[in-house]
Amino acid sequence: MNKLPRRPTNPIQWILIGGAALLLLLFFAIPRGPAGEEIEISRVAQLAASGEIRSIEVSGDDLIITTNTGGQLLSRKEPGTSVLEMLEAQGINAAASGIDVSVSAEGSSIGTIIFSFLPIVLFGGLIFFMMRRSQGGINQAMMLGRTKARQVSESPGVRFDDVAGADEAKQELMEVVEFLQNPEKFTKLGAKIPKGVLMVGPPGTGKTLISRAVAGEAGVPFFNTSGSEFVEMFVGVGASRVRDLFNKAKENAPAVIFIDEIDAIGRHRGSGIGGGHDEREQTLNQILVEMDGFEVNANVIVIAATNRPDILDPALIRPGRFDRRVLIDPPDVRGRKAILAVHMKGKPIEAELDVATIAKETVGFTGADLANVVNEAAIMAARRGKTTIGFSEFEEAVDRVVAGPVRKSRKVSEREKKLVAYHEAGHALVAAQIPDADPVHKVTIVARGTTGGYTRMLPDEERNLWSKGQFEAMLAVMMGGHAAEEVVFGDITTGASDDLEKATDVARKMVTEFGMSEDLGPRTFSSGHSQMFMGRDFSYGKNYSDAVAQKIDTEISRLLGSARAKAKSVIEANRDRLQRLADKLQIQETLQGGELQDLLTGGAEGSAQPAV
Ligand code: ADP
Ligand code: MG
Ligand code: ZN
Repeated sequence: MNKLPRRPTNPIQWILIGGAALLLLLFFAIPRGPAGEEIEISRVAQLAASGEIRSIEVSGDDLIITTNTGGQLLSRKEPGTSVLEMLEAQGINAAASGIDVSVSAEGSSIGTIIFSFLPIVLFGGLIFFMMRRSQGGINQAMMLGRTKARQVSESPGVRFDDVAGADEAKQELMEVVEFLQNPEKFTKLGAKIPKGVLMVGPPGTGKTLISRAVAGEAGVPFFNTSGSEFVEMFVGVGASRVRDLFNKAKENAPAVIFIDEIDAIGRHRGSGIGGGHDEREQTLNQILVEMDGFEVNANVIVIAATNRPDILDPALIRPGRFDRRVLIDPPDVRGRKAILAVHMKGKPIEAELDVATIAKETVGFTGADLANVVNEAAIMAARRGKTTIGFSEFEEAVDRVVAGPVRKSRKVSEREKKLVAYHEAGHALVAAQIPDADPVHKVTIVARGTTGGYTRMLPDEERNLWSKGQFEAMLAVMMGGHAAEEVVFGDITTGASDDLEKATDVARKMVTEFGMSEDLGPRTFSSGHSQMFMGRDFSYGKNYSDAVAQKIDTEISRLLGSARAKAKSVIEANRDRLQRLADKLQIQETLQGGELQDLLTGGAEGSAQPAV
């Protein structure tokens, strides 16, 4: 928001206050009225009669008499009578006797003048000041129309090297850099230079960073703004800001304009609930007009970022506008390793730190998450009074980013601790014993965020495709905690509710989205829930009959039931291992590495593999 000065500190005000003080001082310091001998009014008449008076100055009831010799005398007349009348009464005609009678304003002494003008001066000053203020207001209202785009006057220092992973995105944007640097190369061949690039990706994947790097690589200025900044209270402000932004960029061409969160304004028109949003539409239209209006060689490239390309107005992505689309996905394991390396640069990382393992265990982390992990690790090392950052700090940092800081304050009773230990041991054991499940990396009963403990698995490879067997293994692992509680305590707790919810979700997807149910066959079933509230894909009807709905429910239950049976059989066949694992967990709270592997698979009496 624009800020208004809250306490007036304007120089005009100080001048006014100072002036008033000075005037008051003068008022008291300057003697009132001219000096002169006071005489009776009757004496004035006598002097007039004897022709000794040259002039009489009347000021209210005060009289200043100037004699023929140049002397000054003071007197007072009766209130309500005039000097001329008074002289007339004495038989003296002022004009005939050569006496000038002049009437001046009452209280004509300097002090009185100042005194009488003081309020006017102050009042005038006040009005003047208020006008200045309101003019300021007008100026500010006009400033609203100016874009708030923060121009990086020189090109930003970020280079493609600072962006790790995202190789395909960089490749595509390399071309844009070349357009900016050497447009003739393309225009000579009659090629049209692209005007707009749409960066699509989830938050934190580096859309802003890579856009900055485009400007940095090309060595051109970067104008950074956000879609939400255009949406103001006043209709028309957004449009004029757009105009201003594009003008600034054109003046500084070649340049990059970056519009973050373009979906805030570029939403499919006429799709909002309760009719269109005038302001948004006008702003969007203005962007389209500006982009269409670029001369062929304007050499300004607009990069817009969004994580919701599906709700964008088709007019935006038409050829000649944001027709280039660059997808940025969360990084894969190689990308994560590279991003970690970028952020570790310049930090005192211990030499033997295994970056690959950290990259492996951070599935689904975005670049921003990873930057956060490195930072948390550094903070952790500082807090521990270390001078270098090691693996244990990174482990803690990953845990923090995933589940929040350790909850030290929560008191856990011995019984609860035991329960959590068996629950987590159950997950870990099932994961270790089922071939299709990912290997277990870490088990802990340290409470974080809302979880009482967790079991983290480490996929051997990055997965884009999941088999039915892998899903079934996943379901069994999810059921492991629940099953362990039941086998050991003969009872179950609310601790498993989160697992059940996730498992149900997976099972439903297997049946309705992935066609993994033999009973229902290879087809999808849309749920009938509204998919997207404000966007385009407003709502679907349920596309199957009630009979099918019942079948789906049955199938989900069957999948969950068999997953639990599998989990239970693993637990029952490995009671000893479960026991040892849970005991150790209660003592050490966290288990990982070789120690954990030994407990999970190593020498046990009940090592008979259950028939799974
Ligand atoms: P987005 O705009 O997609 O939400 P940002 O560009 O704002 O994401 O990324 C936030 C931060 O995350 C960046 O400033 C950077 O520190 C880090 N980051 C994200 N992606 C990468 C990457 N590919 N390489 C290095 N750092 C990254
Ligand atoms: Mg961003
Ligand atoms: Zn669980």
